[in-house]
Amino acid sequence: MAEKLFAVKGMNDILPPDSARWEWLEDKVRLLMARYAYRNIRTPILEHTQLFIRGIGEVTDIVEKEMYSFEDRSDKHGDHDHLTMRPENTASVVRAITEHNMLYDGGKRLYYMGPMFRRERPQRGRYRQFHQIGAEALGFAGPEVDAELILLAAALWKELGLSDWRLEINSLGQPAERAEHRAQLIAHLEKHADMLDEEARRRLHSNPLRILDTKNPAMKAVVESAPRLIDFLGPQSLAHFDGLKAILDANGVAWTLNPRLVRGLDYYNLTVFEFVTDRLGAQGTICAGGRYDYLIGQMGGKPAPAVGWALGVERVLDLIKEQGAATQPVAPDAYAVVPDAGALPVVLQALQALRALGVSVQMHASTGPDGMGSMKSQFKKADGSGARFALVFGQAELAEGRVAVKALRGARDAEAQAQILQPLDNIAAWARGLCSGG
Ligand code: ATP
Ligand code: MG
Repeated sequence: MAEKLFAVKGMNDILPPDSARWEWLEDKVRLLMARYAYRNIRTPILEHTQLFIRGIGEVTDIVEKEMYSFEDRSDKHGDHDHLTMRPENTASVVRAITEHNMLYDGGKRLYYMGPMFRRERPQRGRYRQFHQIGAEALGFAGPEVDAELILLAAALWKELGLSDWRLEINSLGQPAERAEHRAQLIAHLEKHADMLDEEARRRLHSNPLRILDTKNPAMKAVVESAPRLIDFLGPQSLAHFDGLKAILDANGVAWTLNPRLVRGLDYYNLTVFEFVTDRLGAQGTICAGGRYDYLIGQMGGKPAPAVGWALGVERVLDLIKEQGAATQPVAPDAYAVVPDAGALPVVLQALQALRALGVSVQMHASTGPDGMGSMKSQFKKADGSGARFALVFGQAELAEGRVAVKALRGARDAEAQAQILQPLDNIAAWARGLCSGG
């Protein structure tokens, strides 16, 4: 036998029946996004490496050590493209809106779903291919859009049956306010240089704010005693923050101020926020985002404000499981039992007609050269499929132009459990009765 092959470390297959939970979540997201008038955007998975260096920032975990990058084979001019598999989608969205001049007629509300790639140490809630769903509102400056995005996320948790989360918010102010804080932060960190780890020492002058985002528990004390950015904000930044809080309060969305919240990416200003839970161990952030008013200009576009968030699909699904919230199991409405292979052309015609009428039908299929298999084994498969009905295409029934419909589960009385013969020349007359909920 040939040697068995395995998936890449940190990259997972999503298999049935679990994949049904993914589809269920994605369906809920699509419906909700439509209610908030957010439109779908799909950007390529591969982008020029430069996009992420400029978009995410050079001194960040992602750009320093987590990107899957490679040099493409040269094209006919001998140029090599440096390409990267997207580690996040905001930079790509900003590129796309700039490239297509999408803000020419006003702001845009967009959402995306898809795989992202980061070379991190795989563990629960942290994978090398993982999936994000994100929402971005571009071209809007006021706190009402920050609030709308947070309300949208909170509505999603409700739709998904999640209650075990809390919202942390902070404001990073504007660049001038940050510069003043930065000087005092560096002074504080220098004073405690002996308590900093190697990475923090390296970032002390290139990106000290990022040190507040450390996951190293040994640095907890020095980070907690650091000067708070929120104390450096001027009246305009505070007014924006107050505007957000007033809307959240009016809508009953509880929040806590976390002055240490800075986010792992460089591009944020003013509002930043995270939805966190204690039920997923170390990887407790299920959704994170904030305002990035300078990114579009920095990426070569006409400057415009923007705000957005991204949620981790694996973590959200894990939390749903953890909370025991119900997701719908999937099963076909009916299973087609086919005793004799000679009947298959007629059977498939009938199944096509049923499916066109909205009935989901699983067809019995042979697994080897010995035909369709015994009735007993076919009924076992029918039961295992979870279908509520078996459609038995026996020779005697087919000779009369009929099919036997047999309830497999959920039938309340003996009559309903018996076989009912239904005509094949008028499938519409009885198809609806097979549909779940129909
Ligand atoms: P963390 O602090 O957990 O590393 P992050 O700040 O790097 O997260 P973002 O870049 O803001 O995360 O991504 C938004 C969300 O995507 C996170 O809150 C998380 O739910 C999810 N996420 C990020 N990285 C991973 C990963 N490697 N595996 C699974 N989910 C992830
Ligand atoms: Mg990270």
